[in-house]
Amino acid sequence: MSRKPRHIAIIGAGASGLFLTRMLSEHPQFHVTVFEKNRQVGAKLRASGGGKANIFNRDIRPEHYNQAGFVAELLRHYSPEQLENQFAEWGLVTITDEEGRVYPASQFSQTVVDVLSHYPNGNVQLETNCDIQHIDYKNHKWTVNNYSILFDVLVLATGSPAGMIPKNQRGYNNYLQDLSLKINPLQSSLSGFILKDYPESLSGCRTKAVVSLFQNKKLIHKEFGEITFKDDGVSGIVVMNLSAYYRRLPSTKNCRLEINLTYWDENFDINTYLQHNQSVTGLLHPKLAALYQQKPFPIHQLTFHIENTYPLDTAQVAHGGIDLSEIDHNFAAKRHKSLYILGEMLDIDGLCGGYNLFFAFASAGMVGNIITQTY
Ligand SMILES: Cc1cc2nc3c(=O)[nH]c(=O)nc-3n(C[C@H](O)[C@H](O)[C@H](O)COP(=O)(O)OP(=O)(O)OC[C@H]3O[C@@H](n4cnc5c(N)ncnc54)[C@H](O)[C@@H]3O)c2cc1C
Repeated sequence: MSRKPRHIAIIGAGASGLFLTRMLSEHPQFHVTVFEKNRQVGAKLRASGGGKANIFNRDIRPEHYNQAGFVAELLRHYSPEQLENQFAEWGLVTITDEEGRVYPASQFSQTVVDVLSHYPNGNVQLETNCDIQHIDYKNHKWTVNNYSILFDVLVLATGSPAGMIPKNQRGYNNYLQDLSLKINPLQSSLSGFILKDYPESLSGCRTKAVVSLFQNKKLIHKEFGEITFKDDGVSGIVVMNLSAYYRRLPSTKNCRLEINLTYWDENFDINTYLQHNQSVTGLLHPKLAALYQQKPFPIHQLTFHIENTYPLDTAQVAHGGIDLSEIDHNFAAKRHKSLYILGEMLDIDGLCGGYNLFFAFASAGMVGNIITQTY
């Protein structure tokens, strides 16, 4: 006698939800229902990497995340090579840049969404425009909103409001109230900094620099790259990475950014330069040169105190979310073994460079393996 099919509900058709759906679609013993509140699936995945989607990095290390211990354990069971093999099996051709960042060879994030949306066995039902507001657990079965299906397994993959993609979303993850999970406050990570006593005249200036984050006298982190000066602060990949380190601090008091504009020569001496030149016009971006003309500043140490990061709806990822004490290393909720939580909903965030999509996909890969082995 054939076994009764297992009903699996996945809430959220973003990076992690789509990856898990694709995995489970290969196992006809599962009936998978995916609930997505938007009209289209994978909106944030499509927006990722400026529309190219930096899907993972070849150099994933625990210290690239705020929860190194948890990620170290994940990497023992699900590595970047496994992710690469899985994508290759599904036909996704990838390319790697010189910094180990992996992209679809098509250079279009939509390709990733398309590959993840192929269901060979007709055992997937996709319910779009379906905002899950309530979930319930009775007699070992899950129900969502007023749907009549009784689910054996429920997977939460509803991400975070970071970046607010698509725009104007309200009441994100309200349904979580039904579960009484410990949730840490959401704050922006991978975002720019709003700076104190900042000259608006710098707005629009882009330059390369070595940027350091200090708290009091302690150097927290330092990176080299391009920064963009905005109306009230700075942004750019280097700055976004520094914001991730800023968020990991127990307190964010007395933090400052030091921007070394003489990145090409550690020993560059401005006084020697000025002995031969009347101004810094030939040295700095015109807006920085104009600022220097008004009031000279140490160009290897342009310093601003940090007021805050830019808000969550402009950030790439949320710091905070469901506390890791709520799940085991298989992403199963400790209080309900048939409940799994994936991706950015969890209080784990990584640096720029493919680390956040890696976590979303790897969490889904882990849960896919567990579900296919257990149910
Ligand atoms: C602009 C931008 C660029 C980025 N670029 C990169 C990059 O290049 N590389 C990288 O590694 N990371 C990048 N990230 C981060 C990365 O995209 C996310 O970390 C990742 O998409 C999270 O995956 P997820 O599955 O957890 O959530 P999401 O992909 O956000 O999916 C969650 C899904 O759940 C749906 N949902 C939410 N609530 C409900 C509900 N109540 N009922 C039904 N459905 C619901 C949402 O509509 C959404 O489709 C970027 C982020 C942004 C904002």
